Amino acid sequence: MKRNLIFLGPPGAGKGTFATMLKEKEHLAHISTGEIFRNEIKNQTELGKTAKKYVESGGLVPDEIVAAMVSKRLGEPDCDNGFILDGFPRTIKQAELLKKALAEKNSKIDAAILFEADDELLLKRLTARMSCPKCGKDYNKLFSPPKNKWFCDDCEVELTQRKDDTLETAKSRLNLYKKETAPLVEFYKKENLLCSVNSDGEKPAVLKELQKVIKE
Ligand code: AMP
Repeated sequence: MKRNLIFLGPPGAGKGTFATMLKEKEHLAHISTGEIFRNEIKNQTELGKTAKKYVESGGLVPDEIVAAMVSKRLGEPDCDNGFILDGFPRTIKQAELLKKALAEKNSKIDAAILFEADDELLLKRLTARMSCPKCGKDYNKLFSPPKNKWFCDDCEVELTQRKDDTLETAKSRLNLYKKETAPLVEFYKKENLLCSVNSDGEKPAVLKELQKVIKE
């Protein structure tokens, strides 16, 4: 089975959602670089202070900083059983640094799974995303709203929106994806690692397709 996975795709394509579902089924470590940065920013660490301006404006944190952070994370024991990289790599340079870091650990990527959806749907999803600041549960105003507007079903705390999910910043993140990250599709095709999943369907069906892809 393929266990060292990259989830590729534009913001809002469902990488985080399906990584959370798959990691529970297959006991994989879920490494979301965006989530790590948001936590570092919240905790006002040195890394958080460096990353803040890039993350909040929808820009990219410099390659060396992200690659070093991921390489360190991949050395933790929960990654020995396999991992999902969600939001990394995002540039060709990061993909090369990742390959090198894994080779040094006698490891490699088994598959890069591409999630796709059209721009209109992506922007709709991104600008309607909300989450609970207490438990982290994700909601979407259009597709998976809370029972009570706009409070967490479990904590009853008011939901918040990510600073980079405003329409303007979401559009610029999509453009950045096309310029910097989309070339990774060719990169992983050449490495014979690319698989595609249509993430527009119902969640259980997409999860089933994902499980099939990694078992092939
Ligand atoms: P995400 O949660 O994946 O949408 O990431 C949120 C933000 O974190 C991005 O818009 C970037 O500013 C930053 N970020 C996350 N992953 C990376 C990466 N691999 N390279 C550079 N910046 C990143």
